[in-house]
Amino acid sequence: MNASQVDVVGVVGAGTMGNGIAHVFALAGMDVVLVDAVPEALDQARSKIEKNLSRQLSKNRIDAAEAKAALERVRTETDMETLASAPLVVEAVPESLDLKLEIFGRLDDVTRPDAILASNTSSISITEIAGSISRPQRFIGMHFMNPVPMMQLVEVIRGLETDDETTEVTLALCERVGKTPVEVNDFPGFVSNRILMPMINEAVYCLMEGVAQPEAIDTVMKLGMNHPMGPLALADLIGLDTCLFIMRILHRDLGDGKYRPCPLLAKYVAAGRLGRKSGRGFYDYADA
Ligand code: NAD
Repeated sequence: MNASQVDVVGVVGAGTMGNGIAHVFALAGMDVVLVDAVPEALDQARSKIEKNLSRQLSKNRIDAAEAKAALERVRTETDMETLASAPLVVEAVPESLDLKLEIFGRLDDVTRPDAILASNTSSISITEIAGSISRPQRFIGMHFMNPVPMMQLVEVIRGLETDDETTEVTLALCERVGKTPVEVNDFPGFVSNRILMPMINEAVYCLMEGVAQPEAIDTVMKLGMNHPMGPLALADLIGLDTCLFIMRILHRDLGDGKYRPCPLLAKYVAAGRLGRKSGRGFYDYADA
């Protein structure tokens, strides 16, 4: 198989990431079958894709015919059997190993034997999911960044058994949808979260130890290191529960004390201060 033969892409999970992934494949001219267990999630995903295409149209990044054609290429379904003929399926269901194992067990049964199965997971081992299916060589990580239509990077993660053809087709497909893929090997947190999450965690330690207030910590990183956002504001955007979850995986799987989740991060999560999505994290979003 080569990337130009991929004419249909399956996407499982139509939430934050799934609708963006469907968007970019459809805009690049591929038919997309977007599957979700919840029909309302599919309706919301279609509206979101339409809204994001309109935004690209208003900024003259695409023309009206492209926007219309892209939307028409997205078919929504609730049954994974509709993915039987897709040469590539990208999974974007919530970050739970058990759920992902269940989804890939089913995809392994219903998809064609040479189909590439990809996960958008941010922290679960690609090798471990691959080890549960009959074709670990066709399994790969495709870690898109949020918001998918805007962000240039796709971290492409090779599991222990991922073969060269699967990697090459996946890298070429990322380029075909206008992204820049970066190939990495499967280790906890890959490259992105292995570096980002300890930085956020360290910023929370600075806060806990009274080194500085949140605004001061973020300003140092923005103006001093040229980061577009400070680490605490970024943590609020990502969700403090997600940050804690990934730190726990780094700590557990790498076994090094330097990944110890900051107790203040755990405390905020326990209190329900999850960041923007709950209205409060390191900053207050009550009026946002
Ligand atoms: P989300 O909660 O927004 O969406 C998940 C979707 O999966 C929901 O629509 C839900 O109805 C659907 N779903 C749940 N169970 C299902 C099932 N059994 N069959 C079919 N659909 C099912 O999640 P998200 O934020 O889009 O995250 C998806 C994945 O992408 C996760 O692995 C996450 O770690 C990863 N990721 C997220 C981000 C981010 O910023 N949100 C960034 C990079 C990677």
